[in-house]
Amino acid sequence: MMLHPEIESLDRDGMRALQARKLAALGERLAASPDWCEHFAKAGMHPRDLAAADGLAHAPTMEKADLRARYPFPMLTVEASKVVRFFATSGTTGLPVLFGFTRNDLRQLSIQVARQLYCSGVRPGDRVYQGFGYGLWIGGPAHELALQELGTTCFPVGPGRSELVVQWVRELAWDVAAVSPLFLANLLRVAREHGIDPRKDWKVRMAIIGGQAVSRAFRDELEAGMPAGFTARNSYGTTESGGPNLGAACPYAHRRDEMHLINEDAVITELLDPQSLKPAGPGEVGEVVVTTLDKEASPVVRWRTHDLVRMAEKPYDCECGRRGMPTIGRIIGRSDDVLKVRGVLVFPSQIEDVVAGTPGTVKDAWQIYVDTVDGSPKSMTVAIECDAGHAARSSDLAGIVARSLSSRLGLKVPVECHPYGTLPRYEAKARRVLPKEQS
Ligand SMILES: [Zn+2]
Repeated sequence: MMLHPEIESLDRDGMRALQARKLAALGERLAASPDWCEHFAKAGMHPRDLAAADGLAHAPTMEKADLRARYPFPMLTVEASKVVRFFATSGTTGLPVLFGFTRNDLRQLSIQVARQLYCSGVRPGDRVYQGFGYGLWIGGPAHELALQELGTTCFPVGPGRSELVVQWVRELAWDVAAVSPLFLANLLRVAREHGIDPRKDWKVRMAIIGGQAVSRAFRDELEAGMPAGFTARNSYGTTESGGPNLGAACPYAHRRDEMHLINEDAVITELLDPQSLKPAGPGEVGEVVVTTLDKEASPVVRWRTHDLVRMAEKPYDCECGRRGMPTIGRIIGRSDDVLKVRGVLVFPSQIEDVVAGTPGTVKDAWQIYVDTVDGSPKSMTVAIECDAGHAARSSDLAGIVARSLSSRLGLKVPVECHPYGTLPRYEAKARRVLPKEQS
């Protein structure tokens, strides 16, 4: 089932040819911008070199530092007066970076995210709770535009107002929730506190979850608390790629815990080794690096997201009929979050898998505290919470998690178990790694 079969069923060669035509046009547009010419000159190139077969593979990468140097409207390729809307990155480190959207960029965004939602199983006529955040953050506005484009009935509540939402899911008979997984877990808790049993009282059949990576165990637990047949579909995107427009799970990809790169005709996604920048092969982990082909106002070329994913063993020719839109695994962490402790590489997602898979822990409340000496972590402590209704002693629970971590990581890690409700909770992207003095 495809919203745009003429594009979505292209095979890999057809997709490559379409991308090559758009890359050449992008090079022409960027050539008119002195900032972009200067950026390409760092690699001894000119934007028009994007028309060459190996042009993109040799183009310089970009990250926040490149844009911060050109504050406040970095590498804008249209007059600022043509921008109808700015969005911004979360700004967890330093000033937020602003990304402009022209009227046409917003139109393209609504079409891209509509395709993504349709691939995940959202249909015209569905009643949809839109729970992603608004304001400068792109998640909420992009989903709202796309839900309208698709012909659903949208309830744009945004995050928060949990007590109202848990009633409305029941009384307005919502079919779909677009929401961060941590907020959905919070809604389940609030519903039960108010005497609502989501498994019986709600009819929501699907959640589009995004904004952060969650382990399969966490997703399984969410699904177990919801009505029979409910599925939580992963989605993925970033402000820099133009919105929540990259990853979508068709039914087959969902079963493999994978996502299609669903807008490959508009955003090229490379998976590159974070150190060598060599492309990852099938089954290998790489950093997501994106190039926007159609964006008018704030295009990016080889933007380093620092998100790490594994390319599928068999990335092409999915059973759903999408042939040239490869599949990737869920986001497994950030290249700047990977910890090297006593010579062992530790991904926060590995810790999450263990915490989520241990009965008695609170799945959305855990932290890694690191002791850093001269910029490199010397030791780490994992903090978990004991669920309020769990019978085991907290010291026993800490011991169980510590033993699982030791066998999973090959590293002995101290585990502290805290009372229920004492560790930080996050509505959107969680900060799992914190310096020790904050513990
Ligand atoms: Zn598929």
